[in-house]
Amino acid sequence: VRKPFVAGNWKMNGNLALVAEFNQKLAGLKAKAEVVVCAPSLLLHAFETDSFSIGTQNVSHLDNGAHTGELSVDLLKEAGCSYAIVGHSERREDQGESSELVALKAKKCVAAGIVPIICVGEPLDVREAGEVEAFVGEQLDALVDKMSIEELSKTVIAYEPIWAIGTGKTASPEQAQEVHEFIRTYFSKVDATLAQSLRILYGGSVKPDNAETLFAQKDVDGGLIGGASLKAEDFISICQAAN
Ligand code: 13P
Repeated sequence: VRKPFVAGNWKMNGNLALVAEFNQKLAGLKAKAEVVVCAPSLLLHAFETDSFSIGTQNVSHLDNGAHTGELSVDLLKEAGCSYAIVGHSERREDQGESSELVALKAKKCVAAGIVPIICVGEPLDVREAGEVEAFVGEQLDALVDKMSIEELSKTVIAYEPIWAIGTGKTASPEQAQEVHEFIRTYFSKVDATLAQSLRILYGGSVKPDNAETLFAQKDVDGGLIGGASLKAEDFISICQAAN
């Protein structure tokens, strides 16, 4: 059985005061899910994380060296990171990250013992054109191309339809399940055991009032939470909805 998983993505939000609030309010958190907070890297050192783990929102695919402004897996590990979001649609868009680069980042994480949370998902026009599977399938192809089954087994996948991110327009549980099932079936063609153990999260306007039905879907193993992860109470109730 797959252990449920809930990760918060603070994006370019939060500050030391919010970290202090999370340290206090999440202390002693009881949840069946594995809980992760992915905060801006400069905040990571301030977390006290007995009841949850911390992650970053990006990582370099390169080793330490002459790469101005980048953060390596070595540094992030030292800062206590055990997870890293890679390939978020905002970075694919704002920084022009390709699926190939995303796969290299994921591979680098795995080699360093950091679990990459690899994001995929389609924009609205692709959904309206009925091409979700072709689009997401191509994003997955790049992973399978660059990573071994063993490496893939140390990742988490997050399906985040771009039209649902920050819009309040959550995918319906059926829409989410349909794509999650597609993703699991895709990996079953690579390796049956991998497909069964791989955790696939849903992201896009998950809130305390819709989390439970989304997480109840057969192939939805938890969530990647943006806006609602910035309020400790909301995030806690979403964590507790995953079981
Ligand atoms: P929202 O929950 O704010 O829609 O963001 C989802 C997301 O992008 C998480 O990575």
